[in-house]
Amino acid sequence: MENKPDIVRIIEQEGIELKRGTGICPFHADSKPSFRVNKDKQTFHCFGCGEHGDVISFIMKLKGISFPEALIYLGISRGAPVKVNPAIQIEKQIQKDYEKTIHDLYESLCQQSRKLHKVRIKVKESPGALTEQGAAYFAGLMGELAEIEFKIDILLKGYFEDKINLLRGERNAFGREIKQSAVA
Ligand SMILES: [Zn+2]
Repeated sequence: MENKPDIVRIIEQEGIELKRGTGICPFHADSKPSFRVNKDKQTFHCFGCGEHGDVISFIMKLKGISFPEALIYLGISRGAPVKVNPAIQIEKQIQKDYEKTIHDLYESLCQQSRKLHKVRIKVKESPGALTEQGAAYFAGLMGELAEIEFKIDILLKGYFEDKINLLRGERNAFGREIKQSAVA
């Protein structure tokens, strides 16, 4: 039992006055202080009635409650607390990351496509008007689009490692706060 509270503190809380670890026994009609508490051993013993034990049995006897009830009364947890499996947490985070990244990529794919579409329409309207700058802009957009498509491709069909590397990169690109441990 890990987190047992201090026996002296509990006994005093229950209204038993202790002087140098000795007091009036609550378990028998004690006329002289025969109830001893050993702080080092965290036990009690009565030289009058022979009752003895630790803080849990003290509370059980004093309150007339069961062992599990005494644990609850004293706020003692049984065994180690249930821990969330970190592997599952990480997996969930990656999955969330993954979905968010795909969403963001599709979003930028749509944006780029709209831009490209506008350029295409302009060029269509006046083919001679495409300046060198315009052509470079167009090429740039095409390049970005290809990159986004490439990333989406990796996320949907790529190797696990590539996905993870991509997620790491995109995480920064989209300025999202994700714990390093999630994909480290
Ligand atoms: Zn006693």
